[in-house]
Amino acid sequence: MFGARMTNLRKFIDIGANLTDPVYQGIYHGLQKHQPDLDKVLERSWSNNVSKIIITAGNIEDSKKALEIARTDERLYSTVGCHPTRCQELEECSDPEEYLKSLSDLALNNKDKIVAIGEIGLDYDRLQFCPKDIQKKYFEMQLSLCSTLKLPMFLHCRNASDDFVRILRKHKDKLTAGVVHSFDGNPEDANSILQLGLYIGVNGCSLKTEENLFAVTTIPSDRLMIETDCPWCEIRPSHVSAKDVITHFPGVKKEKWQADKMVRGRNEPCTIVQILEVLARIRDEEEEYLCNQIYKNTMKLFFPYEL
Ligand SMILES: [Zn+2]
Repeated sequence: MFGARMTNLRKFIDIGANLTDPVYQGIYHGLQKHQPDLDKVLERSWSNNVSKIIITAGNIEDSKKALEIARTDERLYSTVGCHPTRCQELEECSDPEEYLKSLSDLALNNKDKIVAIGEIGLDYDRLQFCPKDIQKKYFEMQLSLCSTLKLPMFLHCRNASDDFVRILRKHKDKLTAGVVHSFDGNPEDANSILQLGLYIGVNGCSLKTEENLFAVTTIPSDRLMIETDCPWCEIRPSHVSAKDVITHFPGVKKEKWQADKMVRGRNEPCTIVQILEVLARIRDEEEEYLCNQIYKNTMKLFFPYEL
């Protein structure tokens, strides 16, 4: 066994997979490019040591779809919530309170599958979809949902760290536990999140530049989680992290789809191993140790009843 990579001992939980995306139905920009292959994507995940996947949802319809997929396999779970870039639809619907109640009901009636409220938070990189004031308003309202339902927060923050932390601090007394996913901030941002007692989720988008890598080394291992944020956020050859990736998955163009191959440019949960490989190298930690620690963190937040 000496020198062998004991990869079979690893267990991953992908805390952020957007499996409701049409690309897993073979649809890209509205065009059918190949047959639906979510089943193949999931098979590849399970056979690459992914033991659970949390499907992230972006609005009420998406939350229902995510739940429907989660119901197809005991290893799948999902979130319920309205993403900051989609909160305009809450503002424009006839009754925002009713919208929030339907989110709440969905979570309440499916407690075996819904493990968090999310994605909720702020995204100031894409204000064209929803202005700041509306994002803030519904972020706060959905935070109340977390505390009422006693569900963890699955948080999204892009270029909005100050407001994001201010709002969380304001509600500190009633906050549930949670994770800030797809972290791409600096060490001060990481520190503010850690001060709030939250976990930090890392994916390929968190590892693009030297500054990113440095920020990620400042996160204590007992506060780390990993994710793919698929179909986005893969590690690309142009990212500084690419040199630390060991496991590669050959891909084909979507027009040349094959059942047993990844589609180039479409990320999948099986690549989560690459996040671990990069983290272990940049943080100078043993892969198996880190994998185990991250698994424990994730179980503690989302699946405490299984511990
Ligand atoms: Zn997000």
